Amino acid sequence: MGHPLGCFGHLLWMLMLLHLPLREVHGFFPNIWSRTISFSWGSITHQDMTEDAILNITLRLFMETPHPTKGKHIQEEDFKGKTLLADDIFAAFYGPEVSAKRFRAAIAEVANANAAMDFVNTTRDDPVFHFDSELIHSTNARLLQVRKEVLQAVRSEQYGIARKMLGQLLHSLQDFYSHSNWVELGNEEIHLDLV
Ligand SMILES: [Zn+2]
Repeated sequence: MGHPLGCFGHLLWMLMLLHLPLREVHGFFPNIWSRTISFSWGSITHQDMTEDAILNITLRLFMETPHPTKGKHIQEEDFKGKTLLADDIFAAFYGPEVSAKRFRAAIAEVANANAAMDFVNTTRDDPVFHFDSELIHSTNARLLQVRKEVLQAVRSEQYGIARKMLGQLLHSLQDFYSHSNWVELGNEEIHLDLV
């Protein structure tokens, strides 16, 4: 796989691009359990967005990168109209002999850290983590700081910490689009000045 630093921007871009055309949404459920309890089957959760974004950016990365020994590229057509699954993406790139188990676990780590932001006492009610109370500038300043820390953690090969912080960062970023009036103002693109 390519260097994780290179795909950070793409990841954020894909994350928002995939889910911008939201219907009337006032906040995302953190995960599938909270959505089920609320009987809101059709809603997109923070967990869904995060998993989809990682799978999409991984697919793009694999499409742009020839396999190190086989030299072949993944074709986009092979995945058109299909639900993206980690196992399918890995099988297309590496062949069926390589397991996607650790990759799946890594995605879950990011997605769980994201969803936890709405459960954990230290983050749940603090507006600066959720773009609440019109704290746009403070929240974005925090995001920039966390982004720096994610990249530092990757550089020092502390991948567990990097995944956790990335999940937290993505949570706030996703909240921007549901907790601010960005979408109501008619914007259909991502806010380029965030993060
Ligand atoms: Zn939140």
